[in-house]
Amino acid sequence: MAKGSIGVTSDNIFPVIKKFLYSDHEIFLRELVSNAVDATQKLKTLASVGEFKGELGELKVYISIDKKKKTLTVSDRGIGMTAEEIDKYINQIALSSAEDFIEKYKDDAQAIIGHFGLGFYSAFMVAKKVEIFTQSYQEGAVAQHWTCKGDPEYTLEDTIKSDRGTDIVLHIDDDNKEFLEEARILELLKKYAKFLPVEVVFGKKKEWKDGKEVETDEDNVINNTTPAWTKKPADLKDEDYKEFYRELYPFSEDPLFHIHLNVDYPFNLTGILYFPKIKNNIELQRNKIQLYCNQVFVTDQVEDIVPDYLTLLHGVIDSPDIPLNVSRSYLQSDGNVKKISGHITKKVADRLADIFKKERPEFEDKWDDLKIFIQYGMLTDEKFYERAEKFALLKNVNGKYFTFEEYKKLVEGNQKDKNDDLIYLYTTNKEEQYSYIQHAQDKGYDVLIMDGQLDVHAISQLEQKFEKTRFVRVDGDTIEKLIQKEDVSQVTISDRQRDELITIFKSQLPVIDKTDFLVTFEHLSPETNPVFITQNEFMRRMKDMSALQGGMMNFYGEMPDSYNLVVNTAHPLIEKLLKDEEKALKAEISPVYEELKQVEAKHQSLKESHKDKKSEEIPAEEKTELENLMGQITALKDKKDVLLSTYGGENKQVGQLIDLALLSNNMLKGKALAEFVKRSIELL
Ligand code: ADP
Repeated sequence: MAKGSIGVTSDNIFPVIKKFLYSDHEIFLRELVSNAVDATQKLKTLASVGEFKGELGELKVYISIDKKKKTLTVSDRGIGMTAEEIDKYINQIALSSAEDFIEKYKDDAQAIIGHFGLGFYSAFMVAKKVEIFTQSYQEGAVAQHWTCKGDPEYTLEDTIKSDRGTDIVLHIDDDNKEFLEEARILELLKKYAKFLPVEVVFGKKKEWKDGKEVETDEDNVINNTTPAWTKKPADLKDEDYKEFYRELYPFSEDPLFHIHLNVDYPFNLTGILYFPKIKNNIELQRNKIQLYCNQVFVTDQVEDIVPDYLTLLHGVIDSPDIPLNVSRSYLQSDGNVKKISGHITKKVADRLADIFKKERPEFEDKWDDLKIFIQYGMLTDEKFYERAEKFALLKNVNGKYFTFEEYKKLVEGNQKDKNDDLIYLYTTNKEEQYSYIQHAQDKGYDVLIMDGQLDVHAISQLEQKFEKTRFVRVDGDTIEKLIQKEDVSQVTISDRQRDELITIFKSQLPVIDKTDFLVTFEHLSPETNPVFITQNEFMRRMKDMSALQGGMMNFYGEMPDSYNLVVNTAHPLIEKLLKDEEKALKAEISPVYEELKQVEAKHQSLKESHKDKKSEEIPAEEKTELENLMGQITALKDKKDVLLSTYGGENKQVGQLIDLALLSNNMLKGKALAEFVKRSIELL
């Protein structure tokens, strides 16, 4: 029996393994199973080139637990190891500048394992003793038994082993008893070994018999050794891709499209990506792209390997060229990884362009679901924007789809304003903004539907990209002002009338929490509604953005919603309202105006006389007089306002006009709506 000290240049690697690799304990199983798979694959390769002439037999990897002995064993029938090989591959761990490195990456178990090639030694994260029983495939090789108790000392001796291959026996330590539980091991195998290329067996298949679960004679194979991505696209049908999707994400709806990746230059990469059908945000978080290395599961955190927006996709990427066991910061700066990311972007864009070209109706059918991915990509990746602008679509309220180019052609004849700006009208809610859409359509304008989660951002982007083009929400103003063809005619009423109308309308404006109304005037066509509500495009966008982003934009989020109550002074009803009011209030209000005029004149002339005087030169009684006059002015104005708002408050037409405007903006609710209905009936 040979005894020796494991060849590490650092004093003792084991405390490091135990201490620093704490969080990732479970990966020991991945390491051991993939070593077993590698050994099996190597034997197959040797057989195929004629270097191994023996009987291959069944080549499976077996995992077993012995609860009594507290062992977990991974067995294979691969190439095995000779005594020399154990010495070379197991005993001599190449540790260069170990301590520096460990210090640097002490929180990153993956990095340490990868750096040292410590795959096998990760067994010591969970075991107090590890044994290797191995029989090399080579003729005349003597079976070997290696033991190590988690210190630099090991023993190596000849042994007798009936079968070719290797058994790795882990004596699980007391802190890691979970790895003696069948359910835990099954879970880990399902996670890491699901698509390994060699059959991995864990116990026997079970079946239900007479109400009990009993073991059958059949091996319980964990994995699918030939997952779809390892096959040629030509050998797969659409249904096969869907089936594989269900294998990956058992409870999800069928995906929209798949993309089969297959690259061998300048790096190796295979995989299948899916555009999922997403119902809500929760699902976005749950299913993720899985990264494999030669069919060994590595991670489902692919943020550093694929561009951000593609992390929304589902599926599998398999590449032996992605440095797996390294830290995140290293990954981000790795040249290969950057190329891979670029390549995936291109592939995804090409595939979408292809579907768009060849199957446009199908593409349009799926657009509403695809839109979020494509917009996200366009917003975050300039290269992707350049590719996607040819197939990204805009949808109008009639459910028709257009490319950017097509849409421009559609509206440029009719929707340019007097400054030659092209105006794209859009709605965020077809139902709520119905009457505005109607007005726009009456003018022969087209209205886009922009109700997606990313549309606020997409609109800003398109405004920057498109020349002399603005997007305006269809209820942002009167349609005449949204697309202003010539100077809108001036309001024809006097300042006094204007003042009176403001007070009259204010008397019946609803009080809504965090909502402001401003009464404004337009001289529009007599056919346009007498009163309607608009919301300023800029303020609304800022609020929308703040809802999406929070943070800096919170300022806008806190602001009240401000609406304009636009009064169309050209409408006969408004003209009539003014005439009625003048008639009804003449007797009471005229003396008030008359008195106001006189007091204001007095106030004015007294002020004039003080123009060139310093404050101390003005006699005290004149100062008091000024104050008195000011008080009278305020009182008279109040009196006038009370008269007007009492009149307005009792005027059913005013209430009716405001309610109609609120109603077409979907703002009339509850009690106000009930009162409106009641009043409408009375007016009939
Ligand atoms: P890596 O697999 O990254 O090379 P490991 O520490 O996991 O590092 O393994 C070191 C070496 O030990 C392997 O390269 C292989 O030569 C040998 N080895 C490990 N497990 C087995 C096995 N089950 N059968 C044959 N050889 C093995």
